[in-house]
Amino acid sequence: MKWITLLYGSLLASIILLESCQRETKEQTTQEISTYHNPPEFCADSAFYYVQKQLTFGPRYLGSHGHQQCGDFLVKELERFKFHVIQQNFDATLYNGKILKARNIIGSYQPTATKRIILAAHWDTRPFADQDTIRKNDPILGANDGASGVAVLLEIARVLHNDTIPLKIGIDIIFFDAEDYGEPTWIEEKNYSQTYYCLGSQYWAKNKHIPNYRAYYGILLDMVGARNATFTMEGNSMEYAPKIVKKVWDTAERIGYSQYFVKQETPSVIDDHYFVNRYGGIPMIDIIHYNDDNNEPFFSDWHKHSDNLEQIDKNVLKAVGQTLLHVLYNE
Ligand SMILES: [Zn+2]
Repeated sequence: MKWITLLYGSLLASIILLESCQRETKEQTTQEISTYHNPPEFCADSAFYYVQKQLTFGPRYLGSHGHQQCGDFLVKELERFKFHVIQQNFDATLYNGKILKARNIIGSYQPTATKRIILAAHWDTRPFADQDTIRKNDPILGANDGASGVAVLLEIARVLHNDTIPLKIGIDIIFFDAEDYGEPTWIEEKNYSQTYYCLGSQYWAKNKHIPNYRAYYGILLDMVGARNATFTMEGNSMEYAPKIVKKVWDTAERIGYSQYFVKQETPSVIDDHYFVNRYGGIPMIDIIHYNDDNNEPFFSDWHKHSDNLEQIDKNVLKAVGQTLLHVLYNE
């Protein structure tokens, strides 16, 4: 994604990990009203495993071997959790005129339910390290920028599948492709009439996976796993879906995660949610790591080789995933 203003540019392993993660045991406080539904536990170990697993495929930019392999893994995993999966293939036209094959992966829980919520993240990674000082032309691993959002959503899919009482609402997990192939910073002549980031969401917003598809609202995750993350109330989210922002941030506060979900409004970011709002007509918010401490807009390892597993903090994955489950179980 980029700024509006600045235009910056093993299954066995999972089973072992999950043994320690059973249904949430935290007692409800007396202040909580009786109609409040406590969700099952979001397992941070499992989410971390999903980050790790994606990194085993290597960089996952369009056209790479890792991209193909990771996409196939995501489909299989959603199907294992009995989600109905649609793969939306499209041609992504890049900033340099090249056309590459891309695919959005949509997994639906309770496909026939009319009230639907979208949970989304991009699954591709950046083909360059244009914010780095070394090996700028080489692709990044994207542990946080890419894998973290996908990992949280796969863990949510696992939790929904394992719960014995199905929710009344439908949930569509959308893994957008081609989010991070925007022009590198060294390209001087930029074409501002088009956005070469977020190609998967731009395609989906204009070509929904089901004709006349509608959703109540959507939540996008981007860079949701790095240590010391803070998620602020991003401009486009506040413009298009302020009530959803309030609902999510209030929920995080209620369950003790206000150190991560900070109630501060910050500038707009062009990310996948922008196109879903603008062209797709569905209110969607973005939970995105915003860095207020220096001149770098996002987390400090953004678009650098250091966006690797060392940056990932299970507590942050947990805060985001558990907050989302609380929101979903109280719709
Ligand atoms: Zn990125």
